Amino acid sequence: MTVRALSVASEAVPLIKTGGLGDVAGALPAALAPHDVAVTTLLPGYPSVLRALPGAKAVHKWAGLLGSPARLLAHDELLILDAPGLFDREGSPYTDNAGHDWPDNWRRFAAFGRAAADIAGGAVKGREFDLLHAHDWQAGMAPAYLRFAPRKAAKQPVPSVMTIHNIAFQGHYPAHTFPALGLPAAAWAVDGVEYHGGVGFLKAGLESAWAVTTVSPTYAREIGTPEFGMGLDGLIASRGETVTGIVNGIDTAEWDPGADPQLAANYTVRTLARRSANKRALEAEFGLDPGDGPLFVVISRLTWQKGMDVLLEAIEHLVWLGGRLALLGAGDAALEAGFHAIAARHPGRIGVRTGYDEVLAHRMQAGGDAILVPSRFEPCGLTQLYALRYGCVPVVARTGGLADTVIDANLAALSSGVATGILFGGANPQTLKDALDRTVALWSRPADWRTVQRAGMKQDFSWGRSGAAYAALYRRLIASAAG
Ligand code: ADP
Repeated sequence: MTVRALSVASEAVPLIKTGGLGDVAGALPAALAPHDVAVTTLLPGYPSVLRALPGAKAVHKWAGLLGSPARLLAHDELLILDAPGLFDREGSPYTDNAGHDWPDNWRRFAAFGRAAADIAGGAVKGREFDLLHAHDWQAGMAPAYLRFAPRKAAKQPVPSVMTIHNIAFQGHYPAHTFPALGLPAAAWAVDGVEYHGGVGFLKAGLESAWAVTTVSPTYAREIGTPEFGMGLDGLIASRGETVTGIVNGIDTAEWDPGADPQLAANYTVRTLARRSANKRALEAEFGLDPGDGPLFVVISRLTWQKGMDVLLEAIEHLVWLGGRLALLGAGDAALEAGFHAIAARHPGRIGVRTGYDEVLAHRMQAGGDAILVPSRFEPCGLTQLYALRYGCVPVVARTGGLADTVIDANLAALSSGVATGILFGGANPQTLKDALDRTVALWSRPADWRTVQRAGMKQDFSWGRSGAAYAALYRRLIASAAG
């Protein structure tokens, strides 16, 4: 029997994206369709979304959704919450143009969660759902509204899944917002929506959802510890086996070195030698000395999470080893300035581009010998998955999804041909320098290097396995609701 799932997300490609959440929410419908799961995605009606869907039809109305009039629009497998008082504003989904959080974010995303719970609960005629899947704190209130909604005794409960894409973002608001949420008084409890004397949106979702997932098995374990749980570790740990990790897939058509139109030369696992044309092109693009030494790349947000300060401290060592570095990133002003300053001290050896450039990212994966990902934490990480597919050897911190997707080139893994990259413990300058030493040593053995490249390129990170894992989870929960 087809499962009807309502996926509740504040962003989804191709309509609106600020990060990995948008990629995953956008990919889920196609990932689940082969498993007989029909996914409908509920999105907020931001101006860009409404503009992209002029043919959307109104299928439901709320006179007041937390005080705002709202309509539900339908367009194919999309439902759009059109509430102009909440979402009709330019800027990012979460901040104004100056980067400040919208002061009414609590109301915007509580209303979003309330609408989702109403829909999953059967409020819209002709649109029934078997399960609600909420993504990140912006949808965190949906499982809570569903749990606290009055329900007819005869009606089977609708199970819910809460997925954490990054536990660092939690949606924590003052206590005075609680009365406006329209929840029963019983919801103000430690096992309800209350969190450190306020309202916690992600917390509410984690307490209320029938199952919790995050985007890699290692991150699922890590967030149950104080070092990674960002205050929610106790709650995660208490949910035990109901917290699982499902690694994100990638779009293997968009990221295909054999057909990528952005590259100087296309290549496959059998024609790796052609890759060198991409290396030459990348050297030219970044003003680097041409040469046969190892060319490292970095494509990253320039933030503390990504360990970019650690990289700055290890960068001289990379140059000393004979390496060159092409870096593309945007983020903290101090880090941007730091990278520009060091590039100025090493002309021809370090090239830096600040900004966001998807096309260049493709060329860097195709032209770089190795990509550095020294993250302090990494729920899943996509950049190392693209690198594996492009034969750009990932050199990554052993955390979260990085630990789950890269196999370290230790002697045993090398001799059995399964190694796909270099892993190092705890992102700090010394461990990164040691990893650079190991990488350059491996590079100097071309046959071993090629074995590692090829093993990475042969890995399957398409949505196949992850789609099956979500579908199996949905069916388990629906069976338990019936039972
Ligand atoms: P996160 O979502 O935490 O930033 P991920 O690795 O999961 O990290 O996904 C980020 C994606 O965006 C990766 O594919 C990465 O290569 C890409 N990316 C990051 N910064 C840039 C940039 N400045 N230009 C182009 N692509 C970038």
